[in-house]
Amino acid sequence: MSVFSSPAFDNHELVSFHSDRSSGLRAIIAVHNTSLGPGVGGCRMFPYPGDADALHDVLRLSRGMTYKSALAGLPMGGGKSVIIGDPHKQKTRHLMETMGDFVNSQGGRYVAAEDSGTGVDDMRIMGERTGYVSGLDDNEYGGDPSPSTALGVYLGIRTAAKHRLGVDTLQGLSVAIQGLGHVGYYLARYLVADGAIVWGADVNRLNLDRAVKELGVRAVDPDEILTMEVDILAPCAMGAVLNDVSIPNIRAGIIAGAANNQLASFDDGTNLEGRGILYCPDFLINAGGIIDVHHQRIGSGNTEKREHIERIETTLAEVLRRADESHRQTQAIAEELAEEYLHRVSERVVPLREAC
Ligand code: NAD
Repeated sequence: MSVFSSPAFDNHELVSFHSDRSSGLRAIIAVHNTSLGPGVGGCRMFPYPGDADALHDVLRLSRGMTYKSALAGLPMGGGKSVIIGDPHKQKTRHLMETMGDFVNSQGGRYVAAEDSGTGVDDMRIMGERTGYVSGLDDNEYGGDPSPSTALGVYLGIRTAAKHRLGVDTLQGLSVAIQGLGHVGYYLARYLVADGAIVWGADVNRLNLDRAVKELGVRAVDPDEILTMEVDILAPCAMGAVLNDVSIPNIRAGIIAGAANNQLASFDDGTNLEGRGILYCPDFLINAGGIIDVHHQRIGSGNTEKREHIERIETTLAEVLRRADESHRQTQAIAEELAEEYLHRVSERVVPLREAC
């Protein structure tokens, strides 16, 4: 398994591996860039088929966090951690405590938050062993940042619909959501309230039933959701769903969802553009959660937080404008915009040796 030569490595500042026999923990922490602040990012627990898959995932996710925080104007860098294991079968208090110790051992270069396979309760357990955990404080959802992520994605969908379809409301537009978990459920709620016709699929029957019963979401088979003929497709489950196999069959005009790393590879963004499908970069429109975590940390009120999340609309509009002008894929434009910002900030930072 290579690290430095992995395409996802991209000059990571830190990659740490840890295994602990007594708790069964096997975990990786990756910190991509700390120019703007400590690497803040979710702690994901997933039954990766192999160590290399876990490494690839954590590197891609951590790099995405650098761009996400930069575009969201947050004083945070990019980091992520993964625990190799099935959260439904292998998660114990001892395991999460040991993960807290591992996070603590990084001395603050990485700050953990909840992610797929972990929740607020897990962060509280880790928080008993380290101060470098976010999302413990109360927001209106008991610390869960997912509703804020959903709000950002919803605003992204509105911006894309205005740009592509010239509409100010989603009234009567059709949206297909893949995954009705923490984010997908709240996204469906926003969309239904705006008058959209919402279709949804989930491999978890309980999550699907909740969205059907409580929100009137129309249930679809998980195998069919990606290829539905709808105005908007919102991937809100796992990454890499936009790939060689799925892209030729996608019939939505706009793709805007919460899942991290939706594009399996950079070329998939070009392929979407070639097919005339408007792709809203995931790390731009799913930043609501990390913005929420930031406002929990600094103790600001809901109005300030909401205004910050609403800035996603302006940033996305700028990316879509530049993409139209240059006939290039939106993901590349969003990455460039983030790099521009990182560059500007790092030029402003006085190197330590000059300051002394
Ligand atoms: P979650 O685990 O609560 O929900 C994911 C849902 O997708 C689950 O209900 C699961 O059963 C379903 N699912 C999995 N595979 C599926 C498939 N093939 N077809 C249909 N449904 C499937 O996770 P979440 O917190 O809602 O996050 C969703 C995505 O958004 C993840 O990729 C996550 O990394 C990303 N994200 C989440 C946040 C957040 O605030 N929670 C922030 C940024 C990005």
